[in-house]
Amino acid sequence: MDGISGKVALATGAGSGIGRATALRFAEAGATVAVADLDEEGGEETVRLVSEAGGEAEFFAVDVSDEESVKALVDDVVSTFGGLDVAFNNAGIEGTPGPITDQSFEDWKRVVDVNLGGVFLCTKHEIPALRERGGGAIVNTASIAGLVGAADLSPYYASKHGVVGLTKSVAVEVADDGIRVNAVCPGVVDTPMVSRFTGGDDAAMEGIVAPQAMKRAADPSEIAAAVVWLCSDEASFVTGVPMPVDGGYVAQ
Ligand code: NAD
Repeated sequence: MDGISGKVALATGAGSGIGRATALRFAEAGATVAVADLDEEGGEETVRLVSEAGGEAEFFAVDVSDEESVKALVDDVVSTFGGLDVAFNNAGIEGTPGPITDQSFEDWKRVVDVNLGGVFLCTKHEIPALRERGGGAIVNTASIAGLVGAADLSPYYASKHGVVGLTKSVAVEVADDGIRVNAVCPGVVDTPMVSRFTGGDDAAMEGIVAPQAMKRAADPSEIAAAVVWLCSDEASFVTGVPMPVDGGYVAQ
């Protein structure tokens, strides 16, 4: 993949699911990977998997909803690896399913703080580091929940629509700096987040994949492939795009 080898890549939420698969894919493409997560055990396991596959990675603890923590993360990555070239702002939480009348404002704030506030804070602190390198690429994890609506998870859907708006706005703002900013919009992906929804029940999984034309969940590596491509030089004229990787969910 052109333009990834030898680069420094930061991925948040890299202790699990899509973030872990992307950390592995960045390393496979020759990047040095900063594995960032709230969950140290998960993050260290990702580092172990990258090392086992012959790649280079280090764990960095972060709470993406805390500005001091995010600023320290970017500073630490730059001082450890000498700079930052690409960033995958992916950490997210699902919140509690239920109608808006049952949603607590506390849950709303937590979901929006992590999913949207986290992407805002990471982007804010990554851009100066990318400018120092003369350019770079950012990919934010939105979702099909950032493109269409659905009942019973309104804080999550609102936060992901916000990620799409933020991505487009910042892409316009930093285009002259040689920085591209895109979002990936996964459909249902087989990760611990989805297992929490289905409780590991096959019938529940069938129910949530049914609206996707391909009628299956993605493997996290299928999202990772799109993210690494968006970060690569092969996507050199792609910016401000919320890209569905959804087995045909939003096509219908
Ligand atoms: P996951 O639960 O497997 O992984 C999420 C990771 O984010 C975890 O390691 C968790 O510790 C970390 N995290 C949570 N809060 C954090 C915080 N405040 N600071 C730092 N790290 C934090 O979930 P996943 O399915 O891999 O989800 C990754 C992203 O993809 C999320 O943004 C999610 O909304 C999005 N997404 C997932 C799906 C899906 O079907 N799995 C679909 C569309 C979008």
